[in-house]
Amino acid sequence: MVIRRPVQCALGLSDRRRRHGLDARIVCYLCNAADESCDHLLFECSFTQRVWDGILAPMRLDKPSTTGCGSVLEWRRCLRELWPASVRRGGDSLFTLVTWQVWKERNARCFQGETSTVNYVVSSIRSGAGEWVRAGARALGCIIRE
Ligand SMILES: [Zn+2]
Repeated sequence: MVIRRPVQCALGLSDRRRRHGLDARIVCYLCNAADESCDHLLFECSFTQRVWDGILAPMRLDKPSTTGCGSVLEWRRCLRELWPASVRRGGDSLFTLVTWQVWKERNARCFQGETSTVNYVVSSIRSGAGEWVRAGARALGCIIRE
């Protein structure tokens, strides 16, 4: 029997810091247009959505609307369901890479005051995907063309 517990976002975002009474910037570092939260940063943010567009368009893969998705995990589930079964395993790796790079971009803006463009972040994800493929991520290699 497998017991599944809901996975909670444990990133050190402003919503979490505020809950603990710490000083925190409220507005998203990526879009400057909405309150920052885990769900906003990882799937609702316009910057993140443009990154996904830049990644998925060349692969001719769709992404779901953010409307109606209550969490990043639900959005990820919708993303998987939209894709053909043949790309889902590679898509899981891709999801991790995109999420990681968005998180790094957020932290670069927060802690170093450095800002990259959507195109730069997309390029970094493609570069990272290439490294993962060379390291043996065959499923990712099926969907990413270097
Ligand atoms: Zn945002």
